[in-house]
Amino acid sequence: MKWKNKGHEFDAVYTNLKKRSKLYLFGAGDYGEKIYELLSLKKVVQGFIDNNTDKQKKKYCGMHVYDISQIDKEDHEIGIIICVSPYFRKAIIQQLMLEGYIYNENMFTMEVYMSVYYAYELEKLYFPSISFLPSTRCNLNCEACLNFTPYMKKFDERPWEQIKSDVDLFFKRVDYIMLFHISGGEPLLYPKIGELVEYIDNNYRDKIHLLRTVTNGTVLPKEELLEKLSKHRIEITVDDYREAVPESCGTFDKLLALLEEYHIKYEVNKVEEWIDLAPMTTHHEDWSEERLCKKFEGCHVPWQELRDGLLYSCNYASYAHVAGIVEEDKDGVFDLKEYTERQRKELMEFRMGYNKKGYVEFCKRCSGYVDMNPNKVMPAKQMERKK
Ligand code: SF4
Repeated sequence: MKWKNKGHEFDAVYTNLKKRSKLYLFGAGDYGEKIYELLSLKKVVQGFIDNNTDKQKKKYCGMHVYDISQIDKEDHEIGIIICVSPYFRKAIIQQLMLEGYIYNENMFTMEVYMSVYYAYELEKLYFPSISFLPSTRCNLNCEACLNFTPYMKKFDERPWEQIKSDVDLFFKRVDYIMLFHISGGEPLLYPKIGELVEYIDNNYRDKIHLLRTVTNGTVLPKEELLEKLSKHRIEITVDDYREAVPESCGTFDKLLALLEEYHIKYEVNKVEEWIDLAPMTTHHEDWSEERLCKKFEGCHVPWQELRDGLLYSCNYASYAHVAGIVEEDKDGVFDLKEYTERQRKELMEFRMGYNKKGYVEFCKRCSGYVDMNPNKVMPAKQMERKK
């Protein structure tokens, strides 16, 4: 979205949010539990809502779990906060709209509610997530890599001092983050991944709900690293690429066994299809500013990257810059080094999708995130690495 009233873009949402004194959390799961924990001391949480009838039979966090039909939607004090992962919420938003709820009036996503509540009422900064890449090094070469590995002339491994200073700067500015995500490249190939997890956990754990990384399932961590990952309670998403990389099947099984042995929490992620951002065949350079703004707004990319003191409006635009596909887009960044507390609401707005132009330059070369992208491809399809 294009900034029109910097520092006041969410004034109307806050007015609505203040009116909703009886809150229900849609989603009796991990996110709902955390939001309950963060809110219940100061706000009146009436209970959870969930479509799962089994969950409706039990209490969650000591609260009743309701079916949506049991909520009195005529009650003007009621507000619903959707507490599920961005990947599953589209259907819930549609369900609530059909029930007559209005977005940002009496139903809010947890990202909007918490960001606005923290900035306006607590005078603090809440971030839903951040993508943090210590290195782009990877052992695979996926044709449609969202980090653009096939386009890189060389891998970018960031200096340890710069990484530590980014982490420190981030937590100097941000009071609470739902998901701190260490990404890559293949994070397990970054030589200091153990030290990074240790550093974040030792210094900033009280500001993070979920500390998570991801692996492509083709790398076996050494014992010392496994001990560190376990001790510092990082969760791991293990991507299942066995179909595209059949030679990795043995490693994949061994990896899961090791994660079990070291009591490291993990989830296996197997998807049917990937999207290809297709920067070499997408040419929207002649699109009007208005059309590009609409594209950016409709894209709903949930990630922003932190790199060298700068927050990038869209992480894929920043990855494309690091891979050498596009120039750096100075209008699509927020400089955390120059931040003062007077800019708290502006930074919150930037994290929620506002920026100077209302889009980023890379939107002209990119086919967009999941829902809008028509280029569905086989996950992790490999291509030969150029010598
Ligand atoms: S269209 Fe591409 S560059 Fe633009 S916001 Fe979406 S993912 Fe980012």
